[in-house]
Amino acid sequence: DAALAAAAAPVPSDSPTIFDKIINKEIPSNVVYEDDKVLAFRDINPQAPTHIVIIPKVKDGLSGLSKAEERHCEILGRLMYTAKLVAKQEGLDDGFRIVINDGPNGCQSVYHIHVHLLGGRQMNWPPG
Ligand code: ADP
Repeated sequence: DAALAAAAAPVPSDSPTIFDKIINKEIPSNVVYEDDKVLAFRDINPQAPTHIVIIPKVKDGLSGLSKAEERHCEILGRLMYTAKLVAKQEGLDDGFRIVINDGPNGCQSVYHIHVHLLGGRQMNWPPG
């Protein structure tokens, strides 16, 4: 029920996450795009034929979109632009979806901002 789901949801925090280990190559990941600012890798639990997670290499307080400040505008734009680049690279020419989950109600589980890129099938609306 709702109370159980809330109890199971990770607590929002600015602490290091598993994505830092991926950035530092301490745990393996399937990287599809990387530059000096961002990293994109295949989601370990894909929700579509193509499901890629795009993250900033430096979190700078962006545990989630709700923590965004004016100084983050450049990296936020870069995350979006990277989604477009990777969609093209993955051949998602018939369209795709990007998702940013924020906080418990948004079903965020990793508190290092990330853009989900989903494609390769017909998406539905409204989302769950
Ligand atoms: P949710 O888990 O509800 O999708 P998020 O928006 O926080 O919440 O997404 C975190 C994503 O990170 C999940 O899709 C999850 O499958 C993915 N993930 C977690 N650990 C890894 C990992 N080691 N490698 C690749 N993807 C991962």
